[in-house]
Parts: sequence; structure tokens; C-alpha cells
Amino acid sequence: MMQKETDVAVIGGGPAGLAAAIEANKGGCSVTIIERDDGLGGILQQCIHPGFGLHEFKEELAGPEYAQRYIDMLGETKVDVMLGTMVLDMTPKKEILAINEQGVVKVQAKAIVLAMGCRERTRGAIKIPGYRPTGVYTAGTAQRFVNIEGFMPGTRYVILGSGDIGMIMARRLTWEGAKVEAVVEIMSYPSGLIRNKVQCLDDFGIPLYLSHTVVRVHGKDRVTGITIARVDENWKMVPGTEIFFSCDTLLLSVGLIPENEVSRKAGIRLARTNGPEVNQFLQTNVEGVFACGNVLQVHDLVDNVAIEAKRAGAMAAMYATGIRLPSINSPDAVPLVAGRGIGYVLPIKVNTGVDLALASRIGPVNVSLRVKRPVDDVYVRVKNGAKEVYKKFFKHLRPSEMVIFELSAAALNAIDKAQPIEAYLEPKPAKELSEAKVA
Ligand SMILES: Cc1cc2nc3c(=O)[nH]c(=O)nc-3n(C[C@H](O)[C@H](O)[C@H](O)COP(=O)(O)OP(=O)(O)OC[C@H]3O[C@@H](n4cnc5c(N)ncnc54)[C@H](O)[C@@H]3O)c2cc1C
Repeated sequence: MMQKETDVAVIGGGPAGLAAAIEANKGGCSVTIIERDDGLGGILQQCIHPGFGLHEFKEELAGPEYAQRYIDMLGETKVDVMLGTMVLDMTPKKEILAINEQGVVKVQAKAIVLAMGCRERTRGAIKIPGYRPTGVYTAGTAQRFVNIEGFMPGTRYVILGSGDIGMIMARRLTWEGAKVEAVVEIMSYPSGLIRNKVQCLDDFGIPLYLSHTVVRVHGKDRVTGITIARVDENWKMVPGTEIFFSCDTLLLSVGLIPENEVSRKAGIRLARTNGPEVNQFLQTNVEGVFACGNVLQVHDLVDNVAIEAKRAGAMAAMYATGIRLPSINSPDAVPLVAGRGIGYVLPIKVNTGVDLALASRIGPVNVSLRVKRPVDDVYVRVKNGAKEVYKKFFKHLRPSEMVIFELSAAALNAIDKAQPIEAYLEPKPAKELSEAKVA
């Protein structure tokens, strides 16, 4: 068995793993990236559309270009990369068991960064009635076929789910000469970014059926058609609203699930996001294990992945060099809860009474949240008992767009640990709205 020791082990070599590894290395640590694929870059390698790096590099890059920037930066470090190596197990003592062509590999780390990304939900997760013919793929699998393997999975498509991958694939397949009959969404609003609806569906005349779902897959050996129908507010099919589309392929873009099987084995508690519970240091309940990127929460923008991952890398380096970061299990960790209108909020807990020197070293805390459904003219408020910790007005908020804001060290120092911290939505009073219109 091959054995290896490293200060920081990073599981996953996508944008999160790359950014975390570079940062941990800057913190003076030996770092090893363990990646199951044959190359670095993660999901970005199949995202050949532009739209990456607008904030970080002030340029609109394609996914592989963005990934290459980080791969080049990594090339200037001494970070060790193990490709074609799949992590199978991990213990709270930070012993990692992986497998590659040489056999079993054991990596003993002082700190670990989880950066395994997420995977797509499949047909089994959503229970579509009908036969099981070929021609049903997840949108990400189709993206890999078209953009990396170089072949088309079909000629006429229906896409279920208006997540970003589904909408991006609707445009991509149209460019390749296929006919996309419809994108079908069970919610009454698109579940991906509005910019993707405009640029990928509207600009190509691809119809989006909101409050509709697939009720039948036709065909025994190969998909021959799809029937969709309208649903009511309880997602029950409305009889008589069926529409049949003749097609040979159904793509599913129905959500992403963080890859946390390995995390669970190490006793890491998962939150509502299906990602690990973390505090403001991005540290899980297993001390010295940190999480970032899509394995923590599904991100819409890679720039935010990089910011989060750099913090996780820096925290892991601090831990590996002997600085004990406050634990999420400590009685000083105050729950940060999702209140009215909020789907989830991260971190799950905020440690109070953090040593001032440490607090100034880590800087302000990033809080990220998503709303449950689209809302207009609202305040996002964060309160700790009667104390206001954060308040900001938003004209529009959509579940597809993550809200990120900072809590200052001063705000955190003033937290009363006997009370939870709650993030919630508050509609802007009608009076304030009408005054704004007059002005
Ligand atoms: C189709 C699509 C379109 C997007 N479009 C945009 C866009 O236009 N603009 C934008 O800013 N963002 C976009 N994003 C979002 C952005 O690409 C992702 O948020 C980002 O790639 C997530 O990075 P990550 O490193 O967390 O995960 P990934 O990129 O998924 O990387 C995870 C890595 O971990 C590895 N791994 C997993 N498990 C193991 C294991 N057990 N052992 C070893 N290795 C493992 C995987 O092989 C993978 O390489 C898009 C995402 C998708 C899917």
C-alpha cells in the first residue's frame, strides 16, 4: 500500500479544490490534491460556454479557461497532485483511503479540505411514470457527451427542469442542429439564473412551460415522445392539460446533490443544504476538516466558489500549523437560523468570543443564503434577539441567485450567545415604496 503524509489534503481538484490548495500552500503547508478524474478543473472542463470569472478576473471566460488560470497558478506552487485517485474513506483522525491504478493509497493529513463538488439528481429521484427506454439522460451527462466526448445523445429533445445546466444545454443542442421542443419546469418560475433564461431560451425561441411537469415517457426501447401537463399549487397534475411532444431524448436538469458520502463516513453532520454543517471558519463538526465549493452549497457563480475555497484553504493551513480554531461544537457557537422566507443560511453556527488577534486575521465573516421563492421589494434582516446585525434592501430576490454579505468582527463580538441569530425577509412597508415612487 502506498502511504503519504501531508499537512493539508484537498479532496477534489475542481475550482474549489484548486483555490483552496493554492491558499493552503501560501500558508506555509505541504498540500496534496486528490482528484478522481484524469485532469484538474472539475465540472468547468465541460462548461465551454462563457460567463465565468467576471468578478475575479474582470473578464468573461469559458469554464476551461477559468480552470486553466488556476491550474497555471497551481503550477507555480509545490502542491502535489494525485490524479486518477478516488477517495473512498476518511476518518476523524484525518486518515484518507483512496484507490488508483497502483492500488490502495493511504494519506495521513493534519487538516483536510472537502471540495468534492456535487452530482445531478437522476430519474430515480423524481419518479417519472412510463417505461425505461434509452434516451433519458441528465443534462450534465449530455453536456459531457457533446462538449468532451464529441457526440450527440439525440436529435429532438424535451428538457425537464429549468436549472442552469438544462437551459445552457437547450442552447448548446440547438447550436449543434438539434430541435429542443420545450423546457418544462414544475415551479411557477425558472429555477436557474434569469440571464440564462434570456440568453439560452428566449433568444432561440425555445418555449419554457412553467408549472408543468413530465407525466409520461413514451417508447419501449428508445424514447419516442414525452407528455407534459400543468400542475396545481400542490404539484398535482391538472387533467385535460396534457401536451404531447414527439422526441427521442429527455434531459433532466432537476437539481444537484453535494457529494457527501465520504464526509458522512467520517461522522460529519450534514445541514439542510446536504452539505456539511460549518461555522464561520468553514470548519465542520470534525475539527480540522473544512468544506467549500459545491460540496458545501450549490453555487451559481464560480467566483464565489473561489472566495469560499480560499478561506477554507487558509483556515486549513492555520489548523495544520497548530492554530486551534473555535469549534462548531463549542457552547460559544450560536445557531444562525433561516427565518421567514429564507431557504437556508450558512454558516450554520457562528462562534462568539473569538480571540481578537484571530478575528482580525480571518477578517469579516461571509454569510450566504437563498430565498425560498421569488420576492420583490424586501429587506434581508439578520437579528440576534432585539439587536440588528444586518439589514439590506433588495428590489428582486430569486432562489437561483445566492445572496452573500459580510458580518464584521465588531457585529460578531456584540452577539448575545443566549439568543440565536436569525436571517429573515421583511417586505418593504407600502408607505416607503410609494414615497420612493414619488421621489
Ligand atoms: C452546467 C454548469 C454551468 C455553470 N455555469 C456557470 C457560469 O456560467 N458562471 C459561473 O460563474 N459558474 C457557473 N457554474 C458553477 C460553477 O461551475 C460551479 O459552481 C463550480 O464548478 C463548482 O466547483 P467545485 O470545485 O466545488 O466542484 P466541481 O467542479 O464539481 O469539482 C469537484 C471535483 O471533485 C472531484 N471528486 C469528487 N468526489 C471525489 C472523490 N471521492 N475522490 C476524488 N475526487 C473527487 C470531482 O471529480 C471533481 O473534479 C456552472 C455549473 C454547471 C454545472
